[in-house]
Amino acid sequence: MIDMANVFKTYDGGNLALKDITLHVDNGEFVYLTGQSGAGKSTLIKLLFREVLPDSGQIFIAGRSIIRLNNRVTVKLRRNTGVVFQDFRLMENKTVFENVAFALKVLEYPWNEVKEIVPQVLKRLKIADKANAFPRQLSGGEQQRVAFARAVINNPPIILADEPTGNLDPDTSDELMNLFQEFNDEGATVIMATHDKRIVNDTHKRVIALRKGEIIGDHIGGWLL
Ligand code: ADP
Repeated sequence: MIDMANVFKTYDGGNLALKDITLHVDNGEFVYLTGQSGAGKSTLIKLLFREVLPDSGQIFIAGRSIIRLNNRVTVKLRRNTGVVFQDFRLMENKTVFENVAFALKVLEYPWNEVKEIVPQVLKRLKIADKANAFPRQLSGGEQQRVAFARAVINNPPIILADEPTGNLDPDTSDELMNLFQEFNDEGATVIMATHDKRIVNDTHKRVIALRKGEIIGDHIGGWLL
């Protein structure tokens, strides 16, 4: 499903963020990316939805290189990939409904589909009663549910997350993790950057550990110390 081969990424200013990354993730896997701040986790996630491009190396999703894409194929890639961030990234001047609907509009869904799909997803994620609220009127956990709804609104085969529980308390984090698990159980491939030891050590999943831009470990049920 996802393959990276000899990927290097340097930012302007010469910061080497990723060095010779080669990895394979199967369809339906749930993978944690761990490592201290600055290890390269966010950069790896950003490469997978083309927020940044590598200096060299190859990245394939479902057998297709995502390095050189025209706009039409980039829209298709984004359709297939939902992304959840630590800081939610909701639009403050839009309601919950509008925030989630906007994601479908960007993906060029027609309005008659948008108005059917959004309420269904809000209901499934137990935030239907907040449809007309603005983000500032919600708790952190509720905001992250909205962000999650936006990410999974079209049932993408890949869900990426960058420290999604970073701003949540343990109980709220667990509820969010259950949602990721649910969508993974239904077949989505999940790649989550986190340094939350409690979450990683609580499950028995594949853990890819990064340090200074390199992979230093890749184990099932790997422990974060
Ligand atoms: P992590 O998510 O593990 O904290 P990042 O991928 O954010 O790591 O960062 C990896 C390295 O790249 C760090 O040294 C960081 O300072 C650097 N870096 C990240 N983003 C940028 C940027 N936009 N410009 C310059 N350097 C960056």
